[in-house]
Amino acid sequence: MPHDPSRRLSRHFFIPPYILDALTRAADEAIRWAAIESVIASAAMRARRATLATLPIMAAIPSVDRPKERRIYDMKNGTVPLPGKLVAGEGVKKPLQPGAVREAFENLGLTYDFYKTVFGRNSLDDEGQTLIASVHYGKSYNNAFWNGEQMVFGDGDGEIFTRFTRSLDVVGHELSHGVVSQTCNLEYFGQPGALNEHLADVFGVLTEQWSIGQAAAEASWLVGAEIIGPKTKIKAIRTFKGEKAFENDPLFGTDPQPKRMKDFYNGADDDGGVHINSGIPNHAFFRAAVALGGKAWETVGPVWYEALAALDRKSDFKDAARTTGEIAGRLYGPKSREAAAVKAGWKGVGL
Ligand SMILES: [Zn+2]
Repeated sequence: MPHDPSRRLSRHFFIPPYILDALTRAADEAIRWAAIESVIASAAMRARRATLATLPIMAAIPSVDRPKERRIYDMKNGTVPLPGKLVAGEGVKKPLQPGAVREAFENLGLTYDFYKTVFGRNSLDDEGQTLIASVHYGKSYNNAFWNGEQMVFGDGDGEIFTRFTRSLDVVGHELSHGVVSQTCNLEYFGQPGALNEHLADVFGVLTEQWSIGQAAAEASWLVGAEIIGPKTKIKAIRTFKGEKAFENDPLFGTDPQPKRMKDFYNGADDDGGVHINSGIPNHAFFRAAVALGGKAWETVGPVWYEALAALDRKSDFKDAARTTGEIAGRLYGPKSREAAAVKAGWKGVGL
């Protein structure tokens, strides 16, 4: 039978999603748990999200006040159907053992807390969207992804990569794609795509730096260092610094990211270099953050956060440089050291 993308939406449920949704917020834990289980069993997550905004019961709770909500699911080494079996979430009082479930629960929570505390943003959509993650996806699966609705984590093979749930900047990166998609929604190709990757990296590393109270000068500025397994010697997947994350590695070769416009990658691979050319704006951000000193989420962080709403689908590197320069001028004053540092950061990479 040919795949029909509308099939999932047109399933018929005996218990409608709005009732299940209300039950998942019941005060009684047993009711809540049973309701949550049936939401999974009926695979109604999509329908549930679609109806959230219009539910009478939800209208009583202003979306900005909606509390942090996480759901962690276990795929038990399978790949379909997502999200798997519910194993942890808000209001589920089960002690979590060390491992992927606890790591996902904690790192989703830290990412939520970062956006809420630093920028006053209530989850990815700023309306309290439930953060959903599935762990133990596939066997020794060496990746993690955001499918537009939820996070999915592999365990890694234990040699090249360890569990992807371990890395807060990986979690922060993936969830930040959810923020980007609900703000400027940069298209995922060429320079706009590289800016999309850049913004995910920026808010990923800022989440990590914020969580440990680390100043710009002390930070590693590495992306994905925690997922590197024992069988390889590379430092990380990417670095914001003006160096390579790995060079002449027998397995990984050399980090392809440029840090200057003169080294811009013009090829078609990687959706026109989205994970490659993001090295250029990443390095501009790093230069501005380190020049200013202090904590990056308090200095350049607010500038880049405002840029999320100011950029659009087709923005390129020049637009990002101009926009962040203007925002820094507005937030701190046109002649401020912050505005000067942002402009100098971009100039330092050739923009
Ligand atoms: Zn990404």
